[in-house]
Amino acid sequence: MDMKKIEEGVRLILEGVGEDPGRPGLKDTPKRVAKMYSEIFSGLRTPVEDILNPIEGENHDEMVMLKDIPFYSICEHHLLPFIGKAHIAYIPSGQIAGLSDLVKALEHLANRPQVQERLTTQLADVLMQRLKPKGCMVIIDAEHLCMSMRGIKKPGSRTVTSAVRGTFRSRQSTREEMLALLNDRRP
Ligand code: ZN
Repeated sequence: MDMKKIEEGVRLILEGVGEDPGRPGLKDTPKRVAKMYSEIFSGLRTPVEDILNPIEGENHDEMVMLKDIPFYSICEHHLLPFIGKAHIAYIPSGQIAGLSDLVKALEHLANRPQVQERLTTQLADVLMQRLKPKGCMVIIDAEHLCMSMRGIKKPGSRTVTSAVRGTFRSRQSTREEMLALLNDRRP
């Protein structure tokens, strides 16, 4: 990542909005923002395939679901955060993923300029490619700050997207099983 370029860009934005980038409070801001971008856009640096490593030879062939995974991403249209929860379910076929690997795959895809729709389908596609499961379903539920603090200004409104693959697409009972697990709010 070209830190100098980001710093220069932030300085130009500050100038553009009529600020004085030289004043004490803003002096180190370009550097701080560049450092922050290298963290929140770190998903641009490594291919997701390096993260989701299948564990072979597992006979478990019932649904695996990880729900309420918190995540943060950046909307590529406004460079403002969208924040929410992801729910991932799949039915293995000979190989499974470590649960933390699923979380890392989500974070990895979220750590780049994104749109929620693409984040959802990318995660489902990576799962299908890497684990070759019988099917999977990803649901993402998020609040977009570009809708809350600007434009239409509707704080608290949530956008829900889903991607459905394999048996989750072809069998209604599988989708219903997932939704039952999702709505089960026992502690
Ligand atoms: Zn936006």
